[in-house]
Amino acid sequence: MLIEKVELGESLVRITVRTAAGVAVRCPGCGQSSGWEHSRYVRQVADEAIGGRPVRISVSVRRLYCENAVCPRKTFVEQIDGLTERYQRRTPALRRIVEAVAVALAGSAGARLLATLHHTLSSVSVLSRLMRIPLPNRPIPKVVGIDEFALLRGRYVGWQVICRHLNVWDCGIPAGRRARACWAEHRKRAQALQERPSQVVWPRQ
Ligand SMILES: [Zn+2]
Repeated sequence: MLIEKVELGESLVRITVRTAAGVAVRCPGCGQSSGWEHSRYVRQVADEAIGGRPVRISVSVRRLYCENAVCPRKTFVEQIDGLTERYQRRTPALRRIVEAVAVALAGSAGARLLATLHHTLSSVSVLSRLMRIPLPNRPIPKVVGIDEFALLRGRYVGWQVICRHLNVWDCGIPAGRRARACWAEHRKRAQALQERPSQVVWPRQ
């Protein structure tokens, strides 16, 4: 990557970079390297603020042909480690900041904090980013149980699945069939683990 220009404005830092020509890059479809250039275009990505000024980076990237005849991707766009990600208008560093703020504060409060950090996003955009964060893998419960509850003096009766060994509610779903299916799945996994299956808690009759 070549840095061509750095412009320091009153309210913005603009950096212009371009990727080097002739460098082979792996196709994301098949993994085969290719340096056969199809075209170039300029991407705009936002980065972490410097000295209280937001940073915009203009990146000239290549679209390359994939030389693998059986690859379904005839062309692909190169990505730069630490700077660009597919479909992202922010650098990975800035994306992580936005995600951390979204997780901690969600919409309006998150947008206000990001504005203080010199990143202007609407509350809807912060929520949208929050909804796109993949959920972490949950541990498979080894001991599960199912409980029942009533709302509004018995007008609604539901079931809840409980991970007893973690001492947390695994899910609380006021819909009998769905909760039972969830419990059955957890029980199946617990049995598959073959770790003290006798501790599996059975539902009350
Ligand atoms: Zn390919």
